[in-house]
Amino acid sequence: MAAETFEAVVDFPMPPLPYTAILRILDGYVNTYLVIFVDINVLLIYKYGITVNEKDKNMAGVLNIMNKKIWEKCAEFHGHKCPGLAFGYRAAETAIDILGLGRSDDEEVVCISETDACSVDAIQCMLSCTAGKGNLLIKMTGKNAYSFFDRRSGKSIRILTKRFEKPAGNERNDFMEFILNAPSESLFIIGDVKHALPEKAKIYDSAVCSECGEPFRSDLATVREGCILCIDCSRS
Ligand SMILES: [Zn+2]
Ligand SMILES: [Zn+2]
Repeated sequence: MAAETFEAVVDFPMPPLPYTAILRILDGYVNTYLVIFVDINVLLIYKYGITVNEKDKNMAGVLNIMNKKIWEKCAEFHGHKCPGLAFGYRAAETAIDILGLGRSDDEEVVCISETDACSVDAIQCMLSCTAGKGNLLIKMTGKNAYSFFDRRSGKSIRILTKRFEKPAGNERNDFMEFILNAPSESLFIIGDVKHALPEKAKIYDSAVCSECGEPFRSDLATVREGCILCIDCSRS
């Protein structure tokens, strides 16, 4: 999330555990800050500069605005709004609610996705489970299913998306709105994970291919007639 973040002094009591996203308007109703408790000691403030209407000056109204902002962030990251992204957004939100997750600055939260479709981008954006940090793994079965693990609590769940007929043309937008607003239990089947919690990402030694001269991860080497070969050269 590219939002501006900083630690802040708060003038209100910490919410009771467990919590996911407790927020409060700090600066009147023009410059709005959303305060998200990520951890008992850490809170991130996302400065969005949004305006809250008179009628929304309550927790439900602010939550609604925050959710819309998070959805916009996902769309910005992904490049467009689509039903697939909406499913990912709702799956991440469901995992956050059930497991009490915060964003994963390191590898605290791990997601194993069984698809590589649009939905995965919302999960990356909301939970910071990313390909580069090693806490997003794609184990392709082609099912719209996502397993979430919290290394801190040891808890995990698998969220499987129910089957919906794909609407055509303009109905796509209606379908997206439906996904964004439907109760979680009408979209997903929650179950136990099928995979073990993956090991933490490792740092590997590097080797140099004796054929092409390019350096690469040593555990991917093939040794043939005493020569170290990279994957490309071992196949040619
Ligand atoms: Zn998409
Ligand atoms: Zn090579």
